[in-house]
Amino acid sequence: MLGFLEKVTDYTKEAFDAAKYLIEGLSVTFDHMRRRPVTVQYPYEKLIPSERYRGRIHYEFDKCIACEVCVRVCPINLPVVDWVMNKETKKKELRNYSIDFGACIFCGNCVEYCPTNCLSMTEEYELAAFDRHSLNYDNVALGRLPTSVTSDPSVRPLKELAYLPKGVMDPHELPANKKRAGKLPSQIIKEIQKENTQDELNNNSEDIFPNKINSNN
Ligand code: SF4
Ligand code: SF4
Repeated sequence: MLGFLEKVTDYTKEAFDAAKYLIEGLSVTFDHMRRRPVTVQYPYEKLIPSERYRGRIHYEFDKCIACEVCVRVCPINLPVVDWVMNKETKKKELRNYSIDFGACIFCGNCVEYCPTNCLSMTEEYELAAFDRHSLNYDNVALGRLPTSVTSDPSVRPLKELAYLPKGVMDPHELPANKKRAGKLPSQIIKEIQKENTQDELNNNSEDIFPNKINSNN
């Protein structure tokens, strides 16, 4: 009898959970039904990529030490580090560096693990080409910085939905003085640093005046 009651309880709980998830899913659907489609008139208008967008990789030849860490951490061993050993100085001499963006999956491992930070992800996503071999970028092509969407005078930059203020659904209607929703990464870092400093101050004061704190408690 007890087993039967347990089964009934479990079944009822699962039924309630299923109904809850169904309602949650439908609420998103109904929310979108009230919205109008937003058309971005590309290439005259472009959405501003997010701060952590993983686009075409930028490479700084002067910083590279030819350690090949980027090759080892790449899931497909993609970067080609062309170096020779200088027998006189007994040091590596970098000749060329290339990444084939026709094969790259933009995972960012190479950028993450490069010991000299000579690799970085840019916001460039327009990599269409007629010949896939032209996507094999050498160190000169990799060293070129892309034009940012916000600084390109021929383009109207538009904010993505996630970056619009609360209540604004269309980036075309965004008033100039409206601030974005959420905080910039630089603001979040500042807040974390401030919190850490405050914690350190509190810890130091506990170390200096332990009796006072204990007596207060
Ligand atoms: S990990 Fe960085 S420094 Fe090392 S070879 Fe690759 S790009 Fe150069
Ligand atoms: S982004 Fe990923 S796939 Fe592309 S070169 Fe770097 S590690 Fe390899």
